[in-house]
Amino acid sequence: MDAKGSGNIGRYLNHSCMPNVFVQNVFVDTHDLRFPWVAFFAQTYIIAGTELTWDYNYDIGSVEGKIKYCYCGSLKCRGRLL
Ligand SMILES: [Zn+2]
Repeated sequence: MDAKGSGNIGRYLNHSCMPNVFVQNVFVDTHDLRFPWVAFFAQTYIIAGTELTWDYNYDIGSVEGKIKYCYCGSLKCRGRLL
């Protein structure tokens, strides 16, 4: 699914190598591990108006022939997403 056209509020959160939000699987409807809800939690105090970002945690080199550079601009930027 491409979040460009549809999805919930989570699709507006971009990647950062130094994020202010982390992702946690939460089980609400069922304890079946295949159907978690994905919840975002602040990992630091976030000043109103600050962009919310999380680390996509992609494994660099995990998709053969695909290179995706990171432009998050953080001090700890790893330079690549894939
Ligand atoms: Zn980065």
